[in-house]
Amino acid sequence: LSTDSDVAKREAESISKRSLRSNAQKYEFQAEVSRLMDIIINSLYSNKDIFLRELISNASDALDKIRFLALTDKEVLGEGDNTKLDIQVSYVFNYKLDKQNKILSIRDRGIGMTKEDLIKNLGTIAKSGTSAFVEKMQTSGDLNLIGQFGVGFYSVYLVADYVEVISKHNDDKQHVWESNADGAFAISEDTWNEPLGRGTEIRLHLREEAGEYLEESKLKELVKKYSEFINFPIYLWASKE
Ligand code: ADP
Ligand code: MG
Repeated sequence: LSTDSDVAKREAESISKRSLRSNAQKYEFQAEVSRLMDIIINSLYSNKDIFLRELISNASDALDKIRFLALTDKEVLGEGDNTKLDIQVSYVFNYKLDKQNKILSIRDRGIGMTKEDLIKNLGTIAKSGTSAFVEKMQTSGDLNLIGQFGVGFYSVYLVADYVEVISKHNDDKQHVWESNADGAFAISEDTWNEPLGRGTEIRLHLREEAGEYLEESKLKELVKKYSEFINFPIYLWASKE
């Protein structure tokens, strides 16, 4: 027997669940990564804020890498906006009017990822910490420690059910990684988004119950908190998109 609210919930879920682009190349997550994602998706862990800490930390790492390369070769930075080593957090601010468009994105002008990097780093090569973390979570582990196991990226699935990673590395064209966390991910050459120049944009399609991450006050609080030890400027934008 299902109640009205169950039905409403299921409808909301099917709206937010996206199907992967049909022309994209499909890949399976390495088994341990898939298990990890299952645990995160089904987690009752209440401190979901940590996903933003992990994304800001990854953006900062990527910026460190390009800045380091630029020490010996200034050319890698390119010109214009590409030289700005910053992090931008953008949110759709009228999401209550458009429930299908609950998007929060984090963008950096860091080193970016080639297609091969996307395949390796986000799904097919499990880091040594993956199984250790899965094991920990099955007993009484604290999800807050996810970053220390080298799998912080996957915390995005605490708040999102569909995620796109758009990335541009100097050595490759711009590609999009996408996944509903259902065992598979897909990669395609990006011919429709605005060119990033260089770097990575993580686009989180937020779950129904994660609307608070599109509230200005909540985002301001979190960005302030997590930017404390970050050596790059972080900007918060409300987008009308
Ligand atoms: P960790 O940061 O500990 O390596 P994560 O799960 O957070 O683990 O990220 C996995 C990998 O994905 C990173 O090591 C990096 O290679 C890649 N990655 C994630 N986010 C970015 C980003 N914004 N720019 C470039 N590479 C990234
Ligand atoms: Mg990380």
